[in-house]
Amino acid sequence: MLLDLVFPRRCVVCGSNGAVLCFDCEQGLERLGKPMCERCGAPTAWPVERCRECAGRRIAFARARAAIAYDASAKRLVGAWKERGQRKLAEVAAELVARAVERPSAYTLTFVPADENRLLERGHNPAERLAAALGARWQLPVVPLLSRAPGRAPQKGLTLAERRRNVRGAFAPSGSVPNTIVLVDDVYTSGATVSAAATALRKGGARRVEVVTFARAVR
Ligand SMILES: [Zn+2]
Ligand SMILES: [Zn+2]
Repeated sequence: MLLDLVFPRRCVVCGSNGAVLCFDCEQGLERLGKPMCERCGAPTAWPVERCRECAGRRIAFARARAAIAYDASAKRLVGAWKERGQRKLAEVAAELVARAVERPSAYTLTFVPADENRLLERGHNPAERLAAALGARWQLPVVPLLSRAPGRAPQKGLTLAERRRNVRGAFAPSGSVPNTIVLVDDVYTSGATVSAAATALRKGGARRVEVVTFARAVR
């Protein structure tokens, strides 16, 4: 790309000149894989249906999968992607997800909508861009199916219980939702946001919601 010649890139994780994510830093990202919790995708010592993190919790999605652990490197990567809106990073994220997560059986992708203020501030919704890049790879259409109630406090800095309370009822279905649907978001932290979004998708008619995120907090 011509732009590469005009504006030399720096790795968003380590700052070295070259690719937007250098080979070493890409290799250093902690891939999530089996064994894991079948339901929430948390890494476990052996395959389980439910794990300590999700057992006893009412969760509106059937399963959640992610490509990498949300560690310090992943935080730097996601931070740069969100704040600077580099399209290239959404592509990098989608590529890592496509390598780690099996192509879903659903026919449609949707995404967690951005908060209005955040959208104005950033000019883009990372979850939407990731969904678009994944849709291109999996050859599945991306349909916006959710709206977000304005004026909620950001989830950042809240405890688990506060996150669940804060985000409850934050989403509403807009339009009719297919039977099975893949819900895309950038990061899975407590699962509260995607669960609230999945609740809205089910109100809109979905019977099964599968969540796919780029990164996932590992406790
Ligand atoms: Zn690097
Ligand atoms: Zn679990």
